[in-house]
Amino acid sequence: MLKTALHFSHQLLSECVQPGDVVIDATMGNGHDTVFLSQLVENDGHVYAFDIQEKALESTRQKLEKQGTQNTSLIKDGHQNALTYLPDNTMIKAAIFNLGYLPRGDKQITTKSKTTLSAIASLLTILVEGGRLVLVLYSGHDEGMSEKKEVLSFAKTLPQDSYSVLTYQFINQQNNPPSVLCIEKKKAK
Ligand code: SAM
Repeated sequence: MLKTALHFSHQLLSECVQPGDVVIDATMGNGHDTVFLSQLVENDGHVYAFDIQEKALESTRQKLEKQGTQNTSLIKDGHQNALTYLPDNTMIKAAIFNLGYLPRGDKQITTKSKTTLSAIASLLTILVEGGRLVLVLYSGHDEGMSEKKEVLSFAKTLPQDSYSVLTYQFINQQNNPPSVLCIEKKKAK
């Protein structure tokens, strides 16, 4: 069976992230992606996870405590400020953005095009060759619809000599299912 957008986003990460890598969860939410990344990078790697809601940090902290992992930094700030929290000269292997609002949370607190685009642009500057930015996009609400359009418009402008960009989307499903965008930095020739 074809994978859902969420499963496909994890496949894209697991194909590229290795033990020891530094990675980013740009939208921590309930922590599912943070936990997944912390398992991929193992003890020698590190996950920097961001969210603007304390609730997200609490829920993620609880999940990580059950795992007993110590390879994560949970940061209460927007992903657009991510670079200010990383040690100097840090390069990342991957980042995941699961856009939109916290499931069962306040639907007004949602990711926004301007800050999402700013975060994507800054994280691309520290992405290693062969590294991937993976985004799960939701178009079922107004903000998500315009965010998806703007993110895709930006991604289409990335030069093909430097980046491979793909989308993954079910086109015959009702109710605006999520889609995936992956930006992979090409290896220099
Ligand atoms: N990946 C999460 C999980 O595994 O449960 C789900 C993420 S949820 C769809 C989106 C999250 O993005 C919300 O928790 C929201 O608070 C957060 N968010 C909104 N604006 C943000 C920003 N500028 N920086 C970081 N997180 C943000």
